[in-house]
Amino acid sequence: MSSQNTPSTPPAPPPVLLLEALTRVHGSGATEVQALRGIDLAVYPGELVAVMGPSGSGKSSLLTLAGGLDVPTSGRVVVEGTDLTAASRKQVAALRRHSIGYVFQDYNLIPALTAAENVALPRELDGISSRSARREALALLAEMGLEQLADRFPDEMSGGQQQRVAVARALVGDRRLVLADEPTGALDSETAEAVLALLRNRCDAGAACVLVTHESRFATWADRVVLVRDGSVVDITLRSSEASLLTGGTAQ
Ligand code: ADP
Ligand code: MG
Repeated sequence: MSSQNTPSTPPAPPPVLLLEALTRVHGSGATEVQALRGIDLAVYPGELVAVMGPSGSGKSSLLTLAGGLDVPTSGRVVVEGTDLTAASRKQVAALRRHSIGYVFQDYNLIPALTAAENVALPRELDGISSRSARREALALLAEMGLEQLADRFPDEMSGGQQQRVAVARALVGDRRLVLADEPTGALDSETAEAVLALLRNRCDAGAACVLVTHESRFATWADRVVLVRDGSVVDITLRSSEASLLTGGTAQ
């Protein structure tokens, strides 16, 4: 290959997630809360972005908007090229099913389904056979060290176990965008590191991941750390020199 024809900076791939001038106001009048005040953020394939900031700074608001679970007051949310703010509810639901894995802060497992059924459900909704969905679910549960809990119901598991099942549910089916809100909150540090390693693997395989975390030690797994305060991004730290390519080499 001739080096003359090789551009010095490879063209950046399109972002998996793009947030543009995103605002979210809750309530009105005296009870009005500006949860987000104009967030711009792009997350590219292969990137793990950690979002940090004090309680109430808007981290969960950012994530629910990115996941199409809430609608912004203004601005745009684009996932895999689809503008969620312009799409129909049906399109948003389909995109969420196929492309977005979401780990809720309070797990949100379905109480009447076993661990394996909870993890298999998104795949069944994708339309694959129950048998294949269960096989995928069991493989992921095994990766999380939970194979022996496959047939337990959420109320038969500890908080940490439920949290890992919730992570497995978000990762099943190779979703391109994984959004995780404090996915390690109920885990001991060894298990938390294992969950982070799993998210990191997904990113290394091409997924984009946004991880909300309090704990700076988990930020070491991230390519970038985005610091949010009072609904605004106040700082972005790059963790690796490679990441600067993704921003066109403009950051240090
Ligand atoms: P974080 O996840 O960083 O703790 P949140 O995104 O949950 O922050 O909240 C940001 C701000 O928005 C807080 O002041 C919170 O009280 C407010 N907020 C979040 N959700 C709602 C809601 N549904 N109704 C009213 N206020 C909300
Ligand atoms: Mg939160």
